[in-house]
Amino acid sequence: MNDETKNAQRINPTDQVLLIYTGGTIGMGQNPITGALEPLDFNHLLSCIPELGQVKTKVDVYQFTPPIDSSDMSPRLWAQLVNIISERYEQYDGFVILHGTDTMAYTASALSFMLENLTKPVILTGSQLPIGQLRTDGKENLVTSIEFASLRHPDGRAVVPEVCIYFSGKLLRGNRSTKQSSDGFNAFDSFNYPHLCDAGINFNFHYHNIHTPDFGRAMVPHTAMDPNVMVFSLFPGMQDNIVRHVLEVPQLRSIVMRSYGSGNAPQFPWIIKLLREASERGVIIVNISQCVSGYVEMGRYDTSYQLKDMGIVSGRDCTVEAAVTKLMYLQGRYTDSRRIRTCMEDSIAGEMTV
Ligand code: ASP
Repeated sequence: MNDETKNAQRINPTDQVLLIYTGGTIGMGQNPITGALEPLDFNHLLSCIPELGQVKTKVDVYQFTPPIDSSDMSPRLWAQLVNIISERYEQYDGFVILHGTDTMAYTASALSFMLENLTKPVILTGSQLPIGQLRTDGKENLVTSIEFASLRHPDGRAVVPEVCIYFSGKLLRGNRSTKQSSDGFNAFDSFNYPHLCDAGINFNFHYHNIHTPDFGRAMVPHTAMDPNVMVFSLFPGMQDNIVRHVLEVPQLRSIVMRSYGSGNAPQFPWIIKLLREASERGVIIVNISQCVSGYVEMGRYDTSYQLKDMGIVSGRDCTVEAAVTKLMYLQGRYTDSRRIRTCMEDSIAGEMTV
């Protein structure tokens, strides 16, 4: 039996989903004076989608006050989302988070670590055009996300018990997703991980790609995040004194180093020396490729061999979003940098291929 056939027999709509409205383009309207888009409250959104009344699932709403542009998202608001979900975890079958697209992949990644052993769907979605506009992509994204959040197998287990992004017909693992377009409806993809479901006329689930949690164990919420992380992108011509300045900040606990190709860095003695000194001081350096697809393989070229030798951790095929939020999460939990390094080498929420 293929995935698509199993699919039709195993999905039952259920009863209750919590819709958490954080803001984003989906609920925005034009400021009459500046002409710029700004977040509006949920009643505005609701008035644009009478179709919500036809959805079989019972939908309750929790609204951020004020709703935000997702450029203002922060670890404090991720903790707020974790609290909202964990306090109502037993009451709902699934959760939909309406979120701006700009930082949606960061939030999805952060929540995938903060909601340990998640057994229910948490689906993030939004839109490229506000829901009040005629050509909006928001209605389909929202209605389909509610459906994903409420689907269960006949035995009662959620069909997608993980943090996902649903956008433009694709259900993606949240911590594998990246915003790929600022103006196309097809705004997200997961370049290093297959889709969990393709939603056309039918839902074509790819069950073998969907994470299976331990349904016998409780979900464990975590809210402590330590954001003393820096993303450092290599480029030809970077300057010794500028890099030194950043690497020597005393609060710095970790660096996501965006290297070239399969994990390569220049071999200039000054950069090797700076990275080695930082690593020896206990700063965790995670090597992530600047390419959107493929993975880091330290030691493949001579230009990455030395990095391996100085204790730089391979981020393999992790996204920048997942690497940054995983570090914040681990730093919030542990003080010992060796322990964090070890955890970074493992996949803890399906964020990288090990
Ligand atoms: N600036 C908006 C936001 O991220 C863009 C969007 O929603 O697509 O909140």
